Amino acid sequence: MKAVIISVGDELISGKTVDTNSAYLADQLTRCGIATIAHWTVGDCQSVIARTIADAAAIADIVLVSGGLGPTADDVTRQALADAMGVGMQVDPPSLAVIEGFFRSRGLTMAPINRMQAMVPVGAQVLPNSAGTAPGIAAALGEAMVYVTPGVPHEMKRMFEQQIAPRLPRGRGAIVQKVLHTFGMGESTVGEMLGELMTRDGPVLVGTTVAAGLVSVRITASAPDADRGRTCVDGLCRQIRQRLGDIVFGEDEDSMAGIVGHLLNKAGKTLATAESCTGGMIGQMITAVPGSSSYYLGGMITYSNALKMSLLGVSEELLKAHGAVSEPVARAMAQGCRAHTGADYAISVTGVAGPAGGTADKPVGLVHIAMAHAGGTEHARSSFPSTREIVRLRAALSAMNMLRLHLQKN
Ligand code: AMP
Ligand code: MG
Repeated sequence: MKAVIISVGDELISGKTVDTNSAYLADQLTRCGIATIAHWTVGDCQSVIARTIADAAAIADIVLVSGGLGPTADDVTRQALADAMGVGMQVDPPSLAVIEGFFRSRGLTMAPINRMQAMVPVGAQVLPNSAGTAPGIAAALGEAMVYVTPGVPHEMKRMFEQQIAPRLPRGRGAIVQKVLHTFGMGESTVGEMLGELMTRDGPVLVGTTVAAGLVSVRITASAPDADRGRTCVDGLCRQIRQRLGDIVFGEDEDSMAGIVGHLLNKAGKTLATAESCTGGMIGQMITAVPGSSSYYLGGMITYSNALKMSLLGVSEELLKAHGAVSEPVARAMAQGCRAHTGADYAISVTGVAGPAGGTADKPVGLVHIAMAHAGGTEHARSSFPSTREIVRLRAALSAMNMLRLHLQKN
């Protein structure tokens, strides 16, 4: 089974919006044992979209198209599909009723242009949209099946999961994939530790990628069926985990903040944060996890020395003697944060994010991290000279990782 993924939108070809839909869809198809052979991106031009859909249907069994189903004149994917099929368009009365109902339930009158969203090529099927107004479309084109979804990522995902995935033919054989996320070692070190496990031939592939401050190890197995694929991947995962030890913090959709939250919940402990150079990034990551209110009390963003003193009780002498980016100040921030909030754990970060402000003894990228808890205060100094964005991200991850390692051991 082969698939082509087509993304439609002027904002995509101009580079204003990054095409994330294709990445999601390709990953989902892989899980269904269907190989994606091409990603094509086109603008909102009816003839180009029609031609692209026809070309895709000629070389693939499945064509997934996202975008261009809106009500405005620049959304022309449904007309383009009709052109590719060589048919006209007709109103789908149930879809029209749903769209009218959508507006009525919000106390609005439907604009006449929204009627266009209930039009489908003759002979095509409607895919209900449970997350928005534009229904999707399923149609046969030659030997291929074409599925069209809205471009809005959460609508596209919902429609794929609810409407398209159940209709997909299962490919012959299965592709099973698992990703292990690590923090604390560079990609080359991880590669060295993996050694011969990183072989690129045979039915199982092991590869590494670096993204958002993390090194991830991807294990992909092609097998006659999903069960055998999973057995193969799970076996290799165990070996890899053994080799990499505690730098592995999670799998697949796991995030550092999610794992820390899970461990805090399990231990019945609470957390507070005192952030300087990360400016609230740790708090943001922690609270992005649903249910974080059960363990996260809150935090202070103490960017200035004045707030480090007034909110965290860091003494002026300490700041004068060592400077804000120093081990004693990081420790005092964590201790002050714990004392002021009553949290079981308080983590603090102070560092030089750059690009300016570095000195010989405190270069850009120097970060002091501390964690205060009932058993004392731990500290780590790390230095990763990089861009401001990366320094801040790695600092936030390092602080959470310190707590993760502590919670895993205790
Ligand atoms: P549309 O269905 O074409 O009206 O798309 C609605 C919005 O969804 C666009 O303005 C984009 O912000 C977003 N969008 C469309 N296609 C994609 C894509 N392939 N990847 C990410 N976002 C997209
Ligand atoms: Mg569009």
